[in-house]
Amino acid sequence: MSTKVAVVTGSNKGIGLAIVRALCKQYQGVVYLTSRDEGRGQEAVASMASEGLKPMFHQLDINDLSSITAAAAYFKDKYGGVDVLVNNAGIAFKGADTTPFAVQAEVTLKTNFFATRDMLTHFLPIVKAGGRVVNVSSFVGQRALTQCSPELQKRFRSEDITEDELVGLMQQFVDATKKNEHKQGGWPETAYGVSKTGLTTLTMILARQLTKERPSDKILLNACCPGWVRTDMAGDKAPKSPDEGAITPVYLALLPAGATDPHGKFVSDKEVQAW
Ligand code: NAP
Repeated sequence: MSTKVAVVTGSNKGIGLAIVRALCKQYQGVVYLTSRDEGRGQEAVASMASEGLKPMFHQLDINDLSSITAAAAYFKDKYGGVDVLVNNAGIAFKGADTTPFAVQAEVTLKTNFFATRDMLTHFLPIVKAGGRVVNVSSFVGQRALTQCSPELQKRFRSEDITEDELVGLMQQFVDATKKNEHKQGGWPETAYGVSKTGLTTLTMILARQLTKERPSDKILLNACCPGWVRTDMAGDKAPKSPDEGAITPVYLALLPAGATDPHGKFVSDKEVQAW
């Protein structure tokens, strides 16, 4: 049998690193810690080694298309593809950040939505039969959905929204913030929230597509919320440790062979959430 391989984006620290730690302990295969910065990645690998864990390393900056395609080519070439992909890399401006909202919108959607979509575009074709794909989204995206206009909510919840339509809507939000017209356009005042609304909706679209186009591969693709977790992003007042935050993403990454659900769902505390 060929070697199984799991890849976690943005895993040099925070929840991503905790996902790598858990996979190193629980996954019957090779685990790749990836980081946009080689130095920070190698340091994280060394920290895992000090715990007796042995992840492999590959550079991966999801904002850099050539980094994504190089990594995808590497995994295809070396392992024939990947078995588990966790799209964890993400960013958030701090509440107190004074960067203009339009800039926050562009930068946040670039990583959390558009770059994560680039990952899915280039990695889904190399996810092997029986593969598991997890997009680390957020309850903030679920809340942002309820703050959108009824028309937008209807589209994000519809079964017939296409990837192109969703990409157009996400771009519409970014463009509207530049003219300060996003509120009139029915959007909430949260760039991070909208980016995660987009990511969860994208997960649902691509899951339907997988079911339709590769039914025999039985790949399970889900979005999840790790909970509110003590990391550089969320600060030290959050109730969950990174290891606790990793529980739901790892549960979805390790759904047993033959499982048929959840698929195309938003999952929190291992439970499928209403969307
Ligand atoms: P974090 O501690 O700030 O870690 C974020 C990770 O993503 C870092 O490794 C960062 O790398 C990496 N990253 C950012 N941009 C990247 C890029 N372009 N390419 C590759 N890696 C990139 O945040 P976290 O709290 O662990 O968050 C992990 C995920 O959970 C995010 O998607 C976040 O939105 C989600 N989430 C977190 C919470 C929470 O309470 N913490 C709640 C809900 C959802 P660098 O070190 O190089 O910056």
